Amino acid sequence: MDNNNLPASPKDFIREIIDQHMVSKQFDGKVHTRFPPEPNGYLHIGHAKSIALNSGIAAEYGGKFNLRFDDTNPSKEEVEYVESIIEDVRWLGADWEDRLFYASDYFDQLYDYAIQLIQKGKAYVDDLSAEEMREYRGTLTQSGKESPYRNRSIEENLDLFKRMRAGEFPDGAKVLRAKIDMASPNLNLRDPVIYRIKHEDHHRTGDKWCIYPMYDYTHCLSDSIEGITHSICTLEFEDHRPLYDWVLDELEVFHPQQIEFARLNLNYTVLSKRKLLQLVNEKHVSGWDDPRMPTISGFRRRGYTTEAIRNFCERIGVAKNDSVVDMALLEYCIREDLNKRAQRAMTVLRPLKLVLDNYPENQVEYMECINNPEDPAMGTRKVPFSKVLYIEKDDFRETPPKGYFRLFPGNEVRLRYAYVVKCVSCVKDDDTGEVVEVHCTYDPATQGGTTPDGRKIKSTIHWVSADHAFDAEVRLYDRLFIKANPSDSKDGKDFKHYLNPNSLEVLKDCKLEPFMKDAASGERFQFERQGYFCVDTVDSQPGKPVFNQTVSLRDTWAKIEQAQKKSKK
Ligand code: ATP
Ligand code: MG
Repeated sequence: MDNNNLPASPKDFIREIIDQHMVSKQFDGKVHTRFPPEPNGYLHIGHAKSIALNSGIAAEYGGKFNLRFDDTNPSKEEVEYVESIIEDVRWLGADWEDRLFYASDYFDQLYDYAIQLIQKGKAYVDDLSAEEMREYRGTLTQSGKESPYRNRSIEENLDLFKRMRAGEFPDGAKVLRAKIDMASPNLNLRDPVIYRIKHEDHHRTGDKWCIYPMYDYTHCLSDSIEGITHSICTLEFEDHRPLYDWVLDELEVFHPQQIEFARLNLNYTVLSKRKLLQLVNEKHVSGWDDPRMPTISGFRRRGYTTEAIRNFCERIGVAKNDSVVDMALLEYCIREDLNKRAQRAMTVLRPLKLVLDNYPENQVEYMECINNPEDPAMGTRKVPFSKVLYIEKDDFRETPPKGYFRLFPGNEVRLRYAYVVKCVSCVKDDDTGEVVEVHCTYDPATQGGTTPDGRKIKSTIHWVSADHAFDAEVRLYDRLFIKANPSDSKDGKDFKHYLNPNSLEVLKDCKLEPFMKDAASGERFQFERQGYFCVDTVDSQPGKPVFNQTVSLRDTWAKIEQAQKKSKK
């Protein structure tokens, strides 16, 4: 290893374990990790943490990284999920080279291993029903009872298992169990089921099998077959590790090291495929890639970048204890990245007409605007300016509240990159009393927004030229849930009870700078003073972009951090 490339921050406990293995040559100095999704849903930001960790470790130690589908359950798995997962893992920048595998590729081998266990007297066919098995299993405080079928002969077990495979028995009639210890304090070791009968087609193996291996049995052997050195998984598998080790030891095969870390929890959302599936099926969102979803495809459609998500995963680090990460930190990472790369633009989301009474009719000036103050290489663009403009409704008040420095009758503001203007009057709708037009005079001596006489202008507002702007749909998003932990069911309410009814606001007649009409699908912008937005990849058409709000400009994370620092003092 090249020590100059090691991160300055202290290493997490997983990398420390791997360092020790490198020294002790436990795996001949090799590192091989994997990401093992079950194709029963789309990936979410929690999975991104696991992908970043596994692929990151492989890259740092000059090792390898596999993508493997844990497709042992024929009924829940769909090709759509497989395809979306491949796309998402690739988009997150993890490289499995040519090592894309499926646990179902190993069904033959897993079957042979099961035969070996039976031959060793370490597995038996059980006829107990699921319910009986539960009764026999005992509890945390009470040891289990042995099944009356536990001591079948090896020959009988071999015969029955082969007949299970041949399809002689209906679903649930028999299972194959590992013969471990019904009195073990660890319930996972009380003769766990390793094969069950399921007369169902599998998305890859078709109708070849009617018995399917269980997850715990499959996972350790798949790791072993692929030569995985470090099988990194989430904490809930800690109690399964003894079973992981038991299977590999009994079969005397290559034995990876399982290491558990705390899963990512994020507030104001849910990270469980089961719950996300409910949101999709019950149409609370438009699909798995709805920009409000915490899925990778939702985030991508929303405008989040690979770099920002990976940076977020790095910042949160890995630990052994469960914790909840603040959504504001993720948003901070997005903002930080987009600030550097997003093209700026002036856009009016809730338009109000502004007429410059003394500006020549039919005159158009082209104002030079900076594309990105963070990146001079992005240059400038010319934005048309004319007598009739649009500004944000919010930037005008007929009667200004205290501390309001934007437009109101008698006040001056700067129109960004253009002129200083003074409000002279407004026009109201006769029926509703709503202000529909604001009249100003402009000061020709203030071109570019400067004041040669040095007078102070407190506010700068943005604008677009009415004749040149085009209309577009813009979608604003808020958090999907109104409660920090919607899954906390202490009050007996389902997580969907806490869905935010205002998580989506669609604005239909926004006025945008002309150059944005040809924005490419997925292109990202900073709408000045509003936030970051990107061109929706699903509903946009050439010349008719629809924009999704990626994140607001307001940096709540900076405030949280400040408050934390203060409270520590
Ligand atoms: P979910 O709980 O959302 O249904 P899962 O654990 O069932 O997820 P898998 O497809 O089995 O989903 O997960 C693949 C890998 O991603 C596993 O190694 C799992 O440990 C990891 N993973 C899942 N959720 C998280 C999370 N919130 N944080 C970190 N890693 C996660
Ligand atoms: Mg799982």
